[in-house]
Amino acid sequence: MISHTAMNRQREILVVEDEPDLRQLLKRRLETEGWIARAAGSGEAALHMLSTQAFDLVLLDIMLPGIDGIEVCRRLRAVGDFTPVIMLTARSTEVDRVLGLEIGADDYLTKPFSLRELVARVKAMFRRLDNLELASSARERVISLGDRISIDPSAREVRVEGRVVALTHKEFELLVHFARHPERVFTREQLLDAVWGYTHEAYEHAVNCHINRLRAKIERDPGSPELISTVWGVGYKLSRPAE
Ligand code: CA
Repeated sequence: MISHTAMNRQREILVVEDEPDLRQLLKRRLETEGWIARAAGSGEAALHMLSTQAFDLVLLDIMLPGIDGIEVCRRLRAVGDFTPVIMLTARSTEVDRVLGLEIGADDYLTKPFSLRELVARVKAMFRRLDNLELASSARERVISLGDRISIDPSAREVRVEGRVVALTHKEFELLVHFARHPERVFTREQLLDAVWGYTHEAYEHAVNCHINRLRAKIERDPGSPELISTVWGVGYKLSRPAE
């Protein structure tokens, strides 16, 4: 049975931005949408709030005095906190690092962005989280990829050769999406739509970065992947592992 209380509860967002005007603007806009928004003006304050309270999403500016946004996200992931993070970045050159394995952000927005775009992104993220919660309350059965990998959507757990592997929300969703459609080739646009819930050419790069992260976690040799292969000029597909 689906728990409607869990589905309908108000989502809580932490806004981390050192510029007071922008911080207030973002917070108010999110509250207008019916979400609970809290704000932190520094990386230190953000880490403190994240250690004492659970959030559904963090909007994390990279450029912060002291502990910057990259370090905040890295520290979260290092302690196994996989709260979805959307990074706010002023330079597109930072994107690779932010979406890399070590930092592990889920998505990013390049400054300057419109409030409409921000709200669309947050909505997309929450729609995906709702779907994940639905899947887990539906007690979906375990998906196996040969003997190598088992995915338990209800428990949100992935085992690679018997060992539990910690995945972010987007890595997990990406793997489940592939595992439900083995041998099928998906374009980056299709994956962005299926896993992030929106399509935007400028953000298709997020898909590549997440594929690389996933490979680093599930492939025996991420340099020559056997499970998730690149189909040149088209996209990616997942193959059932050879026994
Ligand atoms: Ca800033």
